[in-house]
Amino acid sequence: MTGAATTYDDYFQRALDGLKADGSYRHFAELERQAGRFPKAYHHGMGREVTVWCSNDYLGMGQHPSVLSAMHASLDHSGAGAGGTRNISGTNHEHVELERELADLHGKEAALLFNSGYLSNWATLGTIAARMKDCVVLSDAANHASMIEGIRHSRAEKQIFRHNDVADLEARLKALPRDVPKIIAFESVYSMDGDIAPIEEICDLADRYGAMTYLDEVHAVGLYGHQGGGVAEQRGLSHRLSVIEGTLGKGFGVVGGYIAGSAALCDFVRSFASGFIFSTALPPMIAAGALASIRHLRGSQDERERHQARVAYLRAALDRAGIPHMDNPSHIVPVMVGDATRCRALSDLLLSRFGHYIQPINYPTVARGTERLRITPGPLHSTADIDDLVAALAALWQEQGMAAAA
Ligand code: PMP
Repeated sequence: MTGAATTYDDYFQRALDGLKADGSYRHFAELERQAGRFPKAYHHGMGREVTVWCSNDYLGMGQHPSVLSAMHASLDHSGAGAGGTRNISGTNHEHVELERELADLHGKEAALLFNSGYLSNWATLGTIAARMKDCVVLSDAANHASMIEGIRHSRAEKQIFRHNDVADLEARLKALPRDVPKIIAFESVYSMDGDIAPIEEICDLADRYGAMTYLDEVHAVGLYGHQGGGVAEQRGLSHRLSVIEGTLGKGFGVVGGYIAGSAALCDFVRSFASGFIFSTALPPMIAAGALASIRHLRGSQDERERHQARVAYLRAALDRAGIPHMDNPSHIVPVMVGDATRCRALSDLLLSRFGHYIQPINYPTVARGTERLRITPGPLHSTADIDDLVAALAALWQEQGMAAAA
C-alpha cells in the first residue's frame, strides 16, 4: 500500500479526463540536454537525439562556457544552496552583485531578485496593487498568467484593455479619477504571437494620466538592445518605465526573475511581498551563472546578430515553401495550423519521422482555431538544421493536404 485517498483521486481523475477529452491535457517530452550539444538533445520517449525548436533558451546561454565556468566556480566556492531566505542568512554576495548588474543594465536605481519570472510578476503586482489604496490596474488583454494571477491576488480593481490598443487604454484612463493610483501592466514581446507593444505611446499616456508603467520584458531581455536590456533599451525608453520585469531563465539561460525600478519601489516590494520574503533565496551559483550570462551579453553582439539572422533565414525558407506563419517583428515564429488535433499530429510526425521537436501550442494557451507550432530558432541552429526542418514541414504540409500560405 502506498496510501489511500480514493474519494479525492476520483475527483482528480475526472478533472484530468476532462482535459484529455478536449485535447488540452499536457504531455511532457522527457529530454536530456547535453552541455555543448544544444539545440540537439536526447529524447527519452523516442530513444534518439532530436533537434529542439521550441526552447526559450533563446540564445543558447544555458550552455555558454562562461556561464558554466562561473557556475562551477561558485558551486565549489559557496556550495549548493543559499542557506536561507534573503532576510535570514540567505543573501549571498552573488545576489547583491547580480542585483547591481540588473539595475545597471536597465538604467534603474535598484533591482530585486525572485526565484522565477512568474513569482516576480505575481509578487510585485500583487503587493503594489493591494497596498496602494484605491489602486486600479490596467492590464493588456494578452498579459501572461503570472501578471493576471498577481492582480487577482491583490483584489484591486482591474481593467483589461484591448491588446496593444492605445485608444482603448486612453479611454479607460480618461474615465478614471485623476487622483487614484494607476498601474499599466503590459509586455514588450508577447510570447505566443511575437508582436511588440507600442511602448512609447503607452508611456506617453502614463505621463498624461499620471499612471505608473509595469513592463514585462521576459521574452526580450538578453535578445534586444545594444546591451541586451530588452526592447525598452533598444527604443531608448528604459528611463520612462516605472518597472521593468525580466527573467533569468530564457535569454540569459539560467533561472530566476527580477524587477528593476526606483530604490523606493524595490525596497517597498522587498519589505512587503510575501512571495519574496518567505522563500529560500536562489542558490549563489545560479546568481553567479546569470551574472556571467548578463555580462557576456552586455559586451557581445554576436549572439543577438546570429539569432536575428537565423530568424530571418527561417522566415524566408518558410515563405519559399508556402508554409503559413504569423508575420511579426520578433524572434518568435508561429507556424499556423488552426486545429488542435492536426497540430498535435504534425508535432508527432515531425518528431517521429524527422527528429524535430516542436511542442504543439493549443487551447487554452492560445485561442481555439489559432493552434500553432511556435518555433524559436537560435544562434546555435545551423542553416542546414533550418533547411531540414522546412523540408520536413513542406513534406507534411503536402501529405496532409494543408493549405499553403497565400
Ligand atoms: N512573463 C511572461 C510573458 C512569460 O512568458 C513567462 C514564462 N513563460 C513568465 C513571465 C514567467 O517567467 P519564468 O519562466 O522565469 O517564471
